[in-house]
Amino acid sequence: MLKEYDVIIIGNGIAGLYASMNLPKEMKVLNICKDFAWECNTFYAQGGITTARDEKDIGLHSRDTLEAGSFANDKAAVETMSKGSLGVIEDFIRRGFHFDMENGNLQYTKEAAHSIARILHVGDATGRYMHDFMMQQNQHYLLKNSLVYDLLIEDAKCFGVKVMIEYKPYVLKAKKVVIASGGVGSLYEYHTNAKSISGDIQGICYEKGIELENMHYLQFHPTVFTKIPWARKMLLTEALRGEGATVIDDEGNRFLFDYDKRGELASRDIVSHAIYDYKQKTNKEVYLDFGNFDEKYFKQRFPNIYKSFRDVGYHPPKERIPISPAFHYSIGGIKTDINGRVLDIDNLYAIGECASSGVHGANRLASNSLLEGLVFAKRAAEDILGSGFDLKFHGFDEEDKTILHEKNDKIIKRQLRRVMWDHVGIVRSRSGLMKAKRFIYEQRNVGRLLELRLNSAKAIIEHALNAPKSIGSHLMKDQ
Ligand SMILES: Cc1cc2nc3c(=O)[nH]c(=O)nc-3n(C[C@H](O)[C@H](O)[C@H](O)COP(=O)(O)OP(=O)(O)OC[C@H]3O[C@@H](n4cnc5c(N)ncnc54)[C@H](O)[C@@H]3O)c2cc1C
Repeated sequence: MLKEYDVIIIGNGIAGLYASMNLPKEMKVLNICKDFAWECNTFYAQGGITTARDEKDIGLHSRDTLEAGSFANDKAAVETMSKGSLGVIEDFIRRGFHFDMENGNLQYTKEAAHSIARILHVGDATGRYMHDFMMQQNQHYLLKNSLVYDLLIEDAKCFGVKVMIEYKPYVLKAKKVVIASGGVGSLYEYHTNAKSISGDIQGICYEKGIELENMHYLQFHPTVFTKIPWARKMLLTEALRGEGATVIDDEGNRFLFDYDKRGELASRDIVSHAIYDYKQKTNKEVYLDFGNFDEKYFKQRFPNIYKSFRDVGYHPPKERIPISPAFHYSIGGIKTDINGRVLDIDNLYAIGECASSGVHGANRLASNSLLEGLVFAKRAAEDILGSGFDLKFHGFDEEDKTILHEKNDKIIKRQLRRVMWDHVGIVRSRSGLMKAKRFIYEQRNVGRLLELRLNSAKAIIEHALNAPKSIGSHLMKDQ
């Protein structure tokens, strides 16, 4: 392993891999990931990836994105993403990737709050196929099972990372560092995220005073099967509702229409809040029902859902599945400009779910995140190639006594997840947020990894406390 690189990319999901794919083979580029190569949210993405259908659709796609985001989005970033979609999808197809087709044309599906069908997919495992493809296309070296626990920053310049490999600390220098480390799923008791996703790098940014933005905008997916013991709960993709699955209570009542006239096709935050509220008020079980589906079609269109639910004892589409909202997606993050550059720190970029590029506003339009990963990865790679590489490295102390885990970390981690779910979840209150804040400030003598999680949780709570009014995915009950 080299000790100095042109570019180090933290993360091996869609954003990290596509940035790497867009950097020439001759450059010294290193991707780092925490776990197995595939243990990332990208791998688990089911429904698909949005694209503007053509130049004419850019306006409508942008409009849908802004509406879902309660117009708190950065309009220029939204248009950049929508315009960029045509190029990145074309690039995937040109490189040999196969999206599902229908009569020789790309097959588009519709998801909640999209005005038209514009989601490309590969069965119900779009993320997995895209990830496999990118792993084959990427020509740079991947360092697996390695954990970045610090950034080397001096005089507002980034010089590389500190990384733990088999519990041994290393200093790896780089002329450019790209953070593509994903969201914050593991902070919550119920979530749909890969186990490697715990907001570590957002925690480092918090500690170093690097600007985090809108951390309190968190998306809760409305249709998740939570009655399993594993940390990552089982998602039932949005595309199911897009194609006719209904949300019902014990008696078959489609109560979502009492909350929004679009029923199952309302945006995610509305459906999540409605299910949460209905359950609280009535104490009834809520189900996703597939009565409108033919079994043969279901099995062919949603093969992974069909199989994985058979494995846990359910038989869709014949049987309905009990559902609950669960934490799903981090909308805010490390603040960047339109090229993924982290503000005020030279040589540092953030792309994908860890970043706040401004595209999602107060809520994310379904299937815009894989797209965001691709478009901003490409822009960051282009920006890197167009910028100078004249950084002079100097000595960084290799000696490091960092302790990753302390004795009580596991217990505190579990408590933190509960506190975040109870007080910083779908519906928030000032008193609940204060309780959560107190819990965090009471923790002492924790290992580095838990310290970073606590930092990220702190940022979420502080941003929520500073935003007393409900908007998009942020719902305050005592405003
Ligand atoms: C179940 C599920 C279904 C989804 N379905 C869709 C969908 O259909 N369409 C859509 O657009 N979006 C979907 N999403 C959201 C989308 O998958 C993610 O937003 C997107 O894949 C994030 O990509 P990323 O590259 O930013 O991060 P990720 O793919 O999550 O990758 C993060 C990487 O960072 C690494 N990492 C993290 N911390 C460290 C550290 N400290 N040191 C070293 N490495 C680190 C991880 O190991 C991982 O390799 C879904 C998400 C989930 C969980």
